[in-house]
Amino acid sequence: METIVIKNGTLISASSEAPCRADLVIADGKIGAIGHFNPEGAAHIYDASDCLVMPGGIDPHVHFALPAGGMVSADDFENGTRAALAGGTTGVIDFVTPEPGERLMDALEKRRAEADGKVLCDYSLHMSITEWRDSIPKEMAEAAAAGTPSFKTYLAYKSGIGLSDAEYVRVLDTAAQNGYLVTTHCEHGDLVDFLREKFIREEKTTPYWHPRSRPPAAEEEAVNRAIALASTLGAALYIVHLSTAGALKAVRRARAQGLKIMAETCPHYLLLHEELYDGSFDGTARYTMSPPLRPPQHSEALWGGLMDGTLAVLATDHCPFCTKGQKDRGRDDFTKIPNGVAGVEERMKLLWHYGAAAGRITPAQFAALTGTNAAAIFGMAGTKGSLSVGADADIVVWDPKLETEISAARQVSKCDESIYEGWKTSGAPRFVFTRGKPAYTEGKVIAEPGNGQFVPRRLRL
Ligand SMILES: [Zn+2]
Repeated sequence: METIVIKNGTLISASSEAPCRADLVIADGKIGAIGHFNPEGAAHIYDASDCLVMPGGIDPHVHFALPAGGMVSADDFENGTRAALAGGTTGVIDFVTPEPGERLMDALEKRRAEADGKVLCDYSLHMSITEWRDSIPKEMAEAAAAGTPSFKTYLAYKSGIGLSDAEYVRVLDTAAQNGYLVTTHCEHGDLVDFLREKFIREEKTTPYWHPRSRPPAAEEEAVNRAIALASTLGAALYIVHLSTAGALKAVRRARAQGLKIMAETCPHYLLLHEELYDGSFDGTARYTMSPPLRPPQHSEALWGGLMDGTLAVLATDHCPFCTKGQKDRGRDDFTKIPNGVAGVEERMKLLWHYGAAAGRITPAQFAALTGTNAAAIFGMAGTKGSLSVGADADIVVWDPKLETEISAARQVSKCDESIYEGWKTSGAPRFVFTRGKPAYTEGKVIAEPGNGQFVPRRLRL
């Protein structure tokens, strides 16, 4: 492989607030050296003057090709990873969701077959535990040994993939005894199911009722319960898509007590609000995701959580469905709308524009929240998420002034809408490299399907 030199960039690292101006040499897919070099002899030189050079983003919460009621989310592994690269993200973690009765390793193999050979950047997988049986501890050990030591659990969706408390404590206990990480979707499933059924019975069928069927209290109760159970059993817990001020407070309190509790939020909870559900079906269905958008005071609290480190990661829960042909299946019944929105392509631009450029977070915090912390939490530190010699050369050359406009017509995602339609942001990738190969340059994804690999992970909890 030919040597690449990224010249004259400002290197940003999560571990140091002091940016350093240097050249970065890529050799054999790794970061070969950092310093000042005469690039003669290098086959390729990329000019990063006026740009920041950062670890490529890692989005640890995406759902490519997610099956939902006979439909599948709009982006498959190929297009989803293409969208990721277009936004500066060089690694994603998706999910394995076993069928009822299916062995975890069989489900893992099937899911890998959907991704291997198709992904444009590296990916890894979380294993979902959707039911309990006596063989689950042994199956979890097999999954962890195969590189998926983080286990997703749902306290909502109890008639399907959700767990009862009796099952959930068994998963937490198994994780605590073996050093696995449990990640949890926290909503009070019975309350949500009750409210959804009640509203439909009362002919309250529009998306307006979606957030009212999943109120902040449903999330806050479940976050407090999950923290209480995990800390009692000594399990490390990572709360996904945290969306309310009360839930954030619970995480902040637990962390102050030294508990192994971590949490992420998503761009839509920072930037969009509950009033978007007021209006016609065609204007509101695109915002149906779970948990739903909240009133603005929750977003302000979440920004505070990103700024003070209570929230370790900005993930996306990328799982868009088209309004035409998918979300419109719920035109007469909001409970039939497939839930989920896009984000993997916009995540870093939005956090840069509204976070770093707005002075809420530093560039070092930006690098931490978009990649470094996820790499550490999920067991990829050393190879991913940092600009250190010997690490995989997954790199984004970020132009902090580059202005772009988000639009469904021009996005890589195959969703027919964007929840950020017409938003203009400054800050965007100029070049992206994955394992040392140019993957995105000046507005175009040039990586080929099959360029990415499965990344087995080992936790250090
Ligand atoms: Zn999700």
